[in-house]
Amino acid sequence: MSRRSFLLRSGATAAGLIGCQSWRERLHAKAISGGKIGASIDSISIPLRDWSGFTVFGESAVVLAPRTEAEVVEIVRQCRQHNRQCRVVGRRTSWNTKWYGDGDTLMLSTVHLDALSFDQEAGTVTCGPGVLLETIHREAWARGFTLSNAPAPPWVSIGGAVSTGSHGSLMGGSLSSRLTSCRLVTGQGRVVEMNADHPHLDAARISLGMLGVMTQLTLKLDPAFRLKLVQQPIATDQWRQALLDSGPMSFIHASTTDPTSTLFKVVPEASVPPLSDEVLTGEDAQGQFWMTGPAHLVVMNFQPPSPTIAGSEWAVPVDLFANVMDAFQSLDLSLPSMVWLKKVMGESALLASGNDPSKVYVECGAYYDVEGRQSPRKIVEMVRKIETLMLAYGGRPHLSKLISMTPAEMQLVYPALTTFQQVRRQLDPQNIFYTQRLAKLFG
Ligand SMILES: Cc1cc2nc3c(=O)[nH]c(=O)nc-3n(C[C@H](O)[C@H](O)[C@H](O)COP(=O)(O)OP(=O)(O)OC[C@H]3O[C@@H](n4cnc5c(N)ncnc54)[C@H](O)[C@@H]3O)c2cc1C
Repeated sequence: MSRRSFLLRSGATAAGLIGCQSWRERLHAKAISGGKIGASIDSISIPLRDWSGFTVFGESAVVLAPRTEAEVVEIVRQCRQHNRQCRVVGRRTSWNTKWYGDGDTLMLSTVHLDALSFDQEAGTVTCGPGVLLETIHREAWARGFTLSNAPAPPWVSIGGAVSTGSHGSLMGGSLSSRLTSCRLVTGQGRVVEMNADHPHLDAARISLGMLGVMTQLTLKLDPAFRLKLVQQPIATDQWRQALLDSGPMSFIHASTTDPTSTLFKVVPEASVPPLSDEVLTGEDAQGQFWMTGPAHLVVMNFQPPSPTIAGSEWAVPVDLFANVMDAFQSLDLSLPSMVWLKKVMGESALLASGNDPSKVYVECGAYYDVEGRQSPRKIVEMVRKIETLMLAYGGRPHLSKLISMTPAEMQLVYPALTTFQQVRRQLDPQNIFYTQRLAKLFG
């Protein structure tokens, strides 16, 4: 029987057929479930590909799905004993798939780590890493709060969003800057509780599971607020003024070829409690689209586009971004016709997009449709070309998106990587969580 007919008979999807590497790795999929490790712990089946289908490792795998921190500890301790590596996975929306390990790596899903509670007086939420952002948004709103700084898609896990430095289009740092404390199961199978002044919290905030498995997170909330978003055309060369001057949460779909771009002007709506959760949309006299509603339903409610997209995003200090925009418009960087511009503030996390909390950074994202093909050359080429440009301006790649930088290049744009690696070696001396896939990027 040919390989193709075998795969078809065995029910492999089109995605599973793409790429011979995925075939080899399918054979290892069994190893991912852990064999004897964690025999008493629940398991679930997950697709072995990123959200968009850009990277496909195979069809699906059964992975462990602990329900308690004690079970996470047990898994990590057994991995140590059996000399196995371990990776933690949320909802697999990160394109760089660093949640995936090599053939023999045991994978652990956070889907059942879904405890959720609020401290009304402190204005905080404490939750398991597997809770979806949409659950936190909904429950926080019901209690008069908003989780600011969250990324656009609400269908991702809080553990994944924090660990990748995901952010909103807000004048603040990433979601990880909201973290006030967490519990982490380290590579030694110990539970470390990190509060605001723990020396390793800034390493743990954005860590892609390299320091261990976060089993509990506490984040600061804001009093609930409503927003108004108005979509309006702007002159492309006015990007800087439009981004900085038009409300703290505004963002831009900037043309790389035309003199006109689109500004999504987002301003707080003047309203007094109790706030309505109604979402209203319409067009103003100039025919410009507008939307009003709770913050999480206006700017943190992006539903998947179809077909799916893949690409990358880089953060550049706003002072240097004019040079990047010029290059976007004059060099052949294989860019799409529009790129997304958002703004974030620097923050204290060692692997943050911006490391100076007093500075504004422009987050710039470029994406193409994946169209069912694995690793389309056009996306790979675009990412590499933009990375080369970004290196000249210290532009840092978003850690959930595609990155092809070398460890030396990563070190150049993330000087704090040295300190991060020291903390990592301290918390995980046996490299339980540090796979070859990660070492290829972080050195
Ligand atoms: C359509 C789309 C739109 C997006 N828009 C935005 C946006 O507006 N802004 C933005 O910044 N980002 C954006 N992103 C990126 C998105 O925010 C991240 O991909 C997402 O937050 C990752 O969450 P996840 O549950 O899918 O994690 P996964 O992809 O499963 O994991 C991500 C990483 O986190 C680690 N991890 C997961 N759980 C834990 C844990 N408990 N402890 C330690 N490490 C852990 C994993 O090992 C992995 O390395 C977008 C992504 C998509 C697909």
